[in-house]
Formats: sequence, C-alpha cells, structure tokens
Amino acid sequence: MINLILFGPPGSGKGTQAAKLVQQYDLLHISTGDLFRYEMGNNTPLGQRAKSYMEKGELVPDEVTIGMLRNKVEANPDVEGYIFDGFPRTIPQAGALDNLMKELFTEISGLIMLDVDDDEIVNRILERGKSSGRPDDNDETIVRKRIEIYRSETTPVFDFYAAQGKAHKVNGIGSIEAIFDRLCKVIEETMD
Ligand code: AMP
Repeated sequence: MINLILFGPPGSGKGTQAAKLVQQYDLLHISTGDLFRYEMGNNTPLGQRAKSYMEKGELVPDEVTIGMLRNKVEANPDVEGYIFDGFPRTIPQAGALDNLMKELFTEISGLIMLDVDDDEIVNRILERGKSSGRPDDNDETIVRKRIEIYRSETTPVFDFYAAQGKAHKVNGIGSIEAIFDRLCKVIEETMD
C-alpha cells in the first residue's frame, strides 16, 4: 500500500498532481477541501458548519475535519492506498491520521511538499478564481489569510513527518509534467 500525503500551500498544485498520481498508482484521492465543498453544495449540517470557516480562509475545527476524513477512509477500505490532499493541516490531525492508519494495519508511506513561493501562489489562486467559482479564491485578503494559516498552523506537520524520516520536498514550479516526474521519482525511490 502507498499512503501518500500531498502537502504544500494553497495553490501549489496538489489537486492537479493528485489527479495524475491516482492514475499512475491506482490510489484513492481524498481532498478534505473537496469533501467540504461537496457538503456545502448539498447544504448538509456539516457543510453549514464548515461554510463560515471556509469563507474566512480559516481552518474548520479539527474534530469536524477528522470525523469527516475518518468516515471517508472507513467507507473505502479495499483500495491500493490513499492520497491525502489538504489533510492533515494541524498536528492533532496528523496524530489522528497516524492512529487511523494503524487501525487499518498500515501507515503513512511519506509526505511530499510542493514548494512554491508566496507571490507565485497568490497569482495562481487569483487566476484559478476566475473559473473555479470558489469565493475563497477570489479575494486577495482571504487568499493571503489562507497562506498565513498554512505557514503558522500547517507547516509544523512537515516537521512532524520529518521526525519520522518521511518528509520530502519537491520544486513545485515548472510544467505539470515536470512536477509530476519529480513526484514519481520521490515515490519510486522512497515508497514503492
Ligand atoms: P482547500 O481546498 O484544501 O484549499 O481547502 C479549502 C478550505 O477548506 C480551507 O481554507 C479550510 O477552510 C477548509 N479545509 C480543507 N481541509 C481542511 C483541513 N484539513 N482542516 C481544516 N480545514 C480544512
């Protein structure tokens, strides 16, 4: 099993690369952002709860996010592995994910960070906002807030997995294919 965390700031290309990795390695892609947007689109109680946080660019509380992630994993036990995209974003989420993997008699194979600088990210997200229909992609203040939260609350997750010898970084600037090749190289050299 390969259980991969695709890590990096908002707009670093995680969703794009996850879609390609899923095909290459036959994994299940789980994006907590997509799951929240689906719940919001269906106006479920979970979606309603997440909405106020997402609109401000803040993190949805851990217990809500962890519960949703756990349900999704437990509903899909017979897979070759998982790609986690946008999760974990806090240390408690990382701890919960490690426990969940243990319960399934497996573990996180590795985390790969897509490394992209702030100015490039802001430009990419605002560009994506023209067609994504995501309100949190259209307002530069919210975009910068998301990046600030990534730096303060989410980057410690990289160190959490670095302490386990499982964290890797690839350059997230370049063509989609070039970045994909870099990711595959890390996966094949360290996890496959
Ligand atoms: P994303 O699509 O990954 O950029 O996520 C969009 C928004 O969903 C974030 O700004 C958060 O409000 C919320 N969200 C997604 N994943 C998480 C998570 N792991 N923990 C908390 N909030 C999350």
